Amino acid sequence: MSKIQILDEHIANQIAAGEVVERPASVVKELVENAIDAGATKIDVSAEEGGLQSIRVADNGAGIEADDCEAAFYRHATSKIASGRDLFQIRSLGFRGEALPSIAAVAKVECVSSAEESGLGRRIVIEGGSLKTNEDIAAARGTDFQVKELFYNTPARLKYMKTIQTELGHISDTMYRMALAYPGIAFTLKHNGNLLLQTVGNGDLLQVIAAVYGTAAAKAMLPVEAEHLDFTVSGYVSKPEQTRSNRNAISTIVNGRHIRNYVLNQSLLQAYHTFLPINRFPLAVLHFRMHPSLVDVNVHPAKLEVRFSKEQELSQFVQQAVGDTLKRQVMIPQGAKPAAAAKSGDSVIQEQLQFYAAAAESARTHSAPLPGAPQSGGAASGAQEAPPAQRGERELPPRPGAAAGDAAERYAPEPPRTGAAPQAPATRGRAAEPREAAVPPAAAQRAQQAYAAAESARLPAFPQLSLIGQMHGTYLIAQNENGLYLIDQHAAHERINYEYYFEQFGNPADAAQELLLPITLEFTPSEAELLKTRLPLFEQAGVVLEHFGGQTFLVRAHPYWFPKGDEQELIQEMAEWVLKEKAVDLAKLREKSAIMCSCKASIKANQKISALEADVLIERLAACKQPYTCPHGRPIIVSFSTYELEKMFKRVM
Ligand code: ADP
Ligand code: MG
Repeated sequence: MSKIQILDEHIANQIAAGEVVERPASVVKELVENAIDAGATKIDVSAEEGGLQSIRVADNGAGIEADDCEAAFYRHATSKIASGRDLFQIRSLGFRGEALPSIAAVAKVECVSSAEESGLGRRIVIEGGSLKTNEDIAAARGTDFQVKELFYNTPARLKYMKTIQTELGHISDTMYRMALAYPGIAFTLKHNGNLLLQTVGNGDLLQVIAAVYGTAAAKAMLPVEAEHLDFTVSGYVSKPEQTRSNRNAISTIVNGRHIRNYVLNQSLLQAYHTFLPINRFPLAVLHFRMHPSLVDVNVHPAKLEVRFSKEQELSQFVQQAVGDTLKRQVMIPQGAKPAAAAKSGDSVIQEQLQFYAAAAESARTHSAPLPGAPQSGGAASGAQEAPPAQRGERELPPRPGAAAGDAAERYAPEPPRTGAAPQAPATRGRAAEPREAAVPPAAAQRAQQAYAAAESARLPAFPQLSLIGQMHGTYLIAQNENGLYLIDQHAAHERINYEYYFEQFGNPADAAQELLLPITLEFTPSEAELLKTRLPLFEQAGVVLEHFGGQTFLVRAHPYWFPKGDEQELIQEMAEWVLKEKAVDLAKLREKSAIMCSCKASIKANQKISALEADVLIERLAACKQPYTCPHGRPIIVSFSTYELEKMFKRVM
């Protein structure tokens, strides 16, 4: 063992850089935060090559005194806190005094700053932590930072940088959050000379939302405004019909700092609870104000996570504030509300049902036949359900000619399966030619063989059922000689539709139908950049998407069989998925899109359907290749054998 030594400042800075400067976006964040702390009203950011080649942040803030310029790069040098007590009441974004030395340790930095109106300033050049230049220079009031060749002296870190697109994505995201947090500051972001974001800085948050998410999104926002003894909140949340497939468009800003806080997020989502379909998330920009002593920002090197000392109260406050906003806008048709009956008095029966449902599910995953044979209650020991993909159900090739129903005609009895091509409804005129012809015979044959192979390895035959009725507009109740069956009508319909759409997506380009009026879609500037590179993929999926300019895209054509009325949302969702996935390929897009289509085209829970419709639904479910789980992997049907019922009623022991 060698002797303990104090690390020299340079090494200490490199170590700190490892935490503070994770990627180019971290540099942008730290420099912009400094500019905000300096009271800037105008902040211009430009990056080259995802910020790896250079990042420049120029502000019109207070500037750094000439004699302080060098010191600003010392470790733990800060003008923002003076004593330990200040740490408990942080009012600035920075306070650790770590950013500048960390950045300067792993890049080539040039800083020009002036704290006076005289036109005199100071220029500092630091490379890899060593001072190269410190000289007087003519400069306007404010600070201009340039960071070049980030990680040039730390090859290990450089190696971990992702593509330019990815790094740019992080930079844009950082800038969007800053702009959303400070509508009073005029921001610009340029990448390789292209203007990606511009805000006017007039304090109007809605205008910033429009700049980031597009005008359509901004129009669908509802204002939130509430006050509590300890907190205030103001901002906007989206109407439930404006949703996203992920949480990225939720921004929570506490005392001007964009933060991530699980509890805060959950409370917001809770407020939307009954309004949003599962896996859909709102857009939200919420500004919270509270006394600095109520929030501890000193728990995360990048200051992204915080701790609240009145977390519980805050959580209730958010839920109430957002919930009130949403409720004031009654937009939910009565029938579409999810059942809230779970906690009623008949909880014993409820429990038993769950128990048997679990038993049925467990038996199913063990490939025991669903109907008939008494399943011992002990089987409920809870075999974990394998994700659907693992069970191979989605791998099944489309069954030639087996159209399982059209959204618009969802209850019309299906013509017998003759192997003929699905007939499109007559109203859709030109698209109604048989699809089959377009499939090369060899491919069709291969598909047929693969299908036959899958068929033989198929799940047990679906039971013959006769309908008893419908419960809570949600479950179909049916029976046969073996017992009682409950069918989740939405899940069943989803499965039927999924198999239909999956097959349709096997050859979507043919079905593309030009639109008289193109559909307009909007994205954030960086999403738009990425999407431009992925347009051919859409074309292969039958969607002709065209960049119209800026953040706007036009849908010129899409397959005629897209669920009516949901086309725009569907394509938006497809785009969101394509933007999110690292590696997209057509096969995955088809599968994902088929799931999205089926979800939209399907009857929801809490919808009364006639006995005839229910019969048709069960019939078509029985004809599915995999009638037991919906495309998301949830069970469609659970059974209670006669024997089990008899046991429940103690008719047998
Ligand atoms: P911190 O922000 O935590 O204080 P930094 O390393 O980011 O630490 O910055 C060190 C100091 O440099 C700041 O406290 C501030 O005095 C000064 N400084 C940095 N950037 C700017 C800027 N854009 N305008 C004015 N002063 C700045
Ligand atoms: Mg700072």
